[in-house]
Amino acid sequence: MGIQLNQVSKTYKSGEVEVKALKDATLHVPDATITTILGPSGSGKSTLLNVIGGIDRHDSGSISFNDKKLESLKEKQLTEYRRESVGFIFQQYNLIPTLTVKENIEVGKELSKQPLDMEDILEKVGMVDKQDKFPSQLSGGEQQRVAIARALIKNPQVLLCDEPTGALDEETGKRILSLLKFVNETYQTTVLIITHNHGIGEMAHHVIKMKSGEIVENYQNDTPIDPK
Ligand code: ADP
Ligand code: ADP
Repeated sequence: MGIQLNQVSKTYKSGEVEVKALKDATLHVPDATITTILGPSGSGKSTLLNVIGGIDRHDSGSISFNDKKLESLKEKQLTEYRRESVGFIFQQYNLIPTLTVKENIEVGKELSKQPLDMEDILEKVGMVDKQDKFPSQLSGGEQQRVAIARALIKNPQVLLCDEPTGALDEETGKRILSLLKFVNETYQTTVLIITHNHGIGEMAHHVIKMKSGEIVENYQNDTPIDPK
């Protein structure tokens, strides 16, 4: 069970130019674990998350998510998988500016057939007092907590985080990571985090390193620590 990639490749073509973003990636991510993905810019980290999350399709190889093989899903089934099983967190939060905190989280809730309880989620991410504020009235860290709540309320099996602390100062970033660890432990959510910060590897069960589209290192961390 969990997520299994076998020899997964993805090439982007723009005109004459071909970029091999992912080359024969093989990886197992056990359920309810945290994995950090390190590597220089352009090494294929986002592509890896995007094919796992069904945002993008791989060209060859196989991706299994529990008993589903993503390459055999039709468009509609892939969209359903993405909406129900996967939560995305981005560096730029992607909140809707005209909606309040609670209404932004509601957007995630509507994507799910079995959402979690709104009040409980607001409390877990520490946004009860600010539920009626708009994104522009919040700090970066608070906006990211709302984005996490929007993803979390769907009760996804996996949270895919693309540089979730990239726009935050170090202290706030640590608090966001600590929240992701709490989510992993509380809901048994599988968490994958792309980061440039090697220190984040310390909180993860697994660390993978990418270079030029390949997974060049993959090791287990026996003593993951809370970044707090
Ligand atoms: P990283 O997340 O490690 O920075 P990416 O997965 O974003 O790397 O990109 C890997 C390679 O694929 C890069 O060379 C990038 O320019 C290219 N690439 C990514 N997305 C696209 C796209 N939509 N179209 C064309 N090339 C892309
Ligand atoms: P549409 O079908 O109108 O394009 P979507 O259902 O794709 O809308 O997304 C609606 C909103 O929900 C967007 O703001 C998007 O950022 C957010 N969203 C979509 N999918 C996810 C997801 N898997 N996790 C968290 N938020 C999501």
